[in-house]
Order: sequence, then structure tokens, then C-alpha cells
Amino acid sequence: MSTLYHDLTSAKQFHSSRLKGKVAVVTASSDGIGFAIAKRLGYEGASVVISSRKEDNVNKAVITLRSEGINVEGVVCHVSNAEQRKELFETAKSKFGGIDILVSNAAVNPAVSPVLETDEKVWDKIFDVNVKSSWLLAKEAYPELMKRGGGSIVFVASIAGYQPMEPLGPYSISKTTLLGMTKAIAYEVVHDNIRVNCVAPGIVSTKFASAITTSDAAKDKSLSIVPMKRFGKPDEIAGAVAFLVSDDASYVTGETLVVAGGAYAHL
Ligand code: NAP
Repeated sequence: MSTLYHDLTSAKQFHSSRLKGKVAVVTASSDGIGFAIAKRLGYEGASVVISSRKEDNVNKAVITLRSEGINVEGVVCHVSNAEQRKELFETAKSKFGGIDILVSNAAVNPAVSPVLETDEKVWDKIFDVNVKSSWLLAKEAYPELMKRGGGSIVFVASIAGYQPMEPLGPYSISKTTLLGMTKAIAYEVVHDNIRVNCVAPGIVSTKFASAITTSDAAKDKSLSIVPMKRFGKPDEIAGAVAFLVSDDASYVTGETLVVAGGAYAHL
């Protein structure tokens, strides 16, 4: 039985044509927040290329999204794999004619430990996937966005990027890095008609967060930092991303939108 968190119940109301004619590439999008983002961008009219590491997951997600009338292609892409990233962008070009929107959503947290006790291999893995791959995806998408006369990039960071979550120190630092990368790239490409923004989700009910959202003790501890006293839903993050990549955010660049139920977010 699949454990994929494919929630199709709440987003249908967002059918709109805000992203009609746009092509979006979303990484880590066969499940969780990435899947919700792909679905939402598709509901708003975009053609979407979804991707993740496991072919089975990609295929299932494609079937689900197509059953919703979304124009979607799926590609196996581990974001650290250069060949697979190339295939991701090639698919967007060959199937949909180009790329207007990149959502860099993949992240890992292979082990938890205090920052100064973290194994170097764990540190490298976290920074390779969460930071370096996001940078490479943006770098590789850039010429494609230029060909379209502009576009939009969104990085998915975390509330932990503002306030390090113990014991997720290295992961938290990687997410803080994305806030800086958003600003740095946004200023560099501002005259290319490309906007670069970031979303910082709070604690969202997905497989990734299950360790801190499922047991009663963990749940109480996690919710203690959330004024709304509930976890976020993937669709609530997707709504923020859809706003940022749409013309409704035409005067917004270099920003991070915190979607965290009121959790304190200040560097
Ligand atoms: P999730 O539910 O566990 O979904 C992970 C998705 O990513 C799956 O589709 C998985 O599919 C894919 N994936 C994992 N590693 C990948 C890789 N190296 N390359 C490509 N795809 C990969 O996770 P999530 O909670 O939606 O997290 C998505 C993003 O939100 C992450 O950047 C995370 O840091 C951020 N975030 C999450 C929370 C939260 O509370 N959930 C809070 C703040 C920020 P495969 O297994 O097939 O690869």
C-alpha cells in the first residue's frame, strides 16, 4: 500500500488561468510539498515537469496529476546528478517548449547531531543536496529562462533557516544559506526580468517531518513554537509558491515568504 501523501481534496478550488502558457520544473515533486506545488501550478494552468529519485514514485504522481487534468511529464532526477538534471530541463524543452519557472524543493537530512559533532560526510551530503544542487539548478535554468524573456525561481527553505531547530543544526544552516542565495541571485538577474524568491515552510505534515509530527511527545514539542497550534498542509505551502511565481508577485524579488502558522522568524 502506497504511503504517498497525495492530497487532492483541497486544492481544486484554485483552478485559475494565472499560469496559463507557463512551463514549470519542480524538483522533489512526487510527494509532499513538491507534489502539492506541482499540483497547484498545474491547476493554475502551467505545464509541469515533476521529478524525484525513484521511478515508481514519479510514475504514480504523474498518473495522479494527469487524472486531475494537469499537463504533466515526469523525470527521474536526483538533484545531485548532473545527467539527470540535464534530462529534467531537456524534457521541459522537448515536451513543453522551454522553462519559465523553476521550483527547487529537494532537501535531505540524513542524520541528526549537534553541529560540532556532525560527521563531515553528513555535512557534505546536506550541503550537496540542499544548497549546491539548488545553486546548480538555478545556474542551469538561467539560460533557459533568458530564452523566454524572463521567468521565476523559487527555493524552498525552512523556518529552521531562521531559528535553528535542535538537533537539526546542519540542516538548519543549509536552509539559512538558501535565504542568502535568494537575495544574491535575485540582485544579479533583476535586469533579466527574472525574479528569485524563497518560501520558508513551518512544520508541515509530510513523511519528511514525520519524526517531529507523529508521536504525542514530539507533536507537543513541535507545536510549542507554532502560535496557530497546528501543522501546515502541503497545499498551504503550494499556495505561497503559486503566488510568488505568478504576476501577482511581479514586484517581489529577493524575498523569503514564511508560511509557518505565525512561528517566530527573524535572523
Ligand atoms: P517529503 O514529503 O519527504 O517529500 C520528499 C520528496 O522529495 C519525494 O518526492 C522524494 O521522492 C523526493 N526526494 C527526496 N530526496 C530527493 C533528491 N535528492 N532528489 C530529488 N528528489 C528527492 O518532504 P517534504 O516535507 O515535502 O519536503 C520538501 C521540502 O520542504 C524540503 O526542501 C524540506 O526541507 C522543506 N521543508 C519541509 C518541512 C516539513 O515540515 N515537511 C518544513 C520546512 C521545510 P523520492 O524518494 O522518489 O526521491
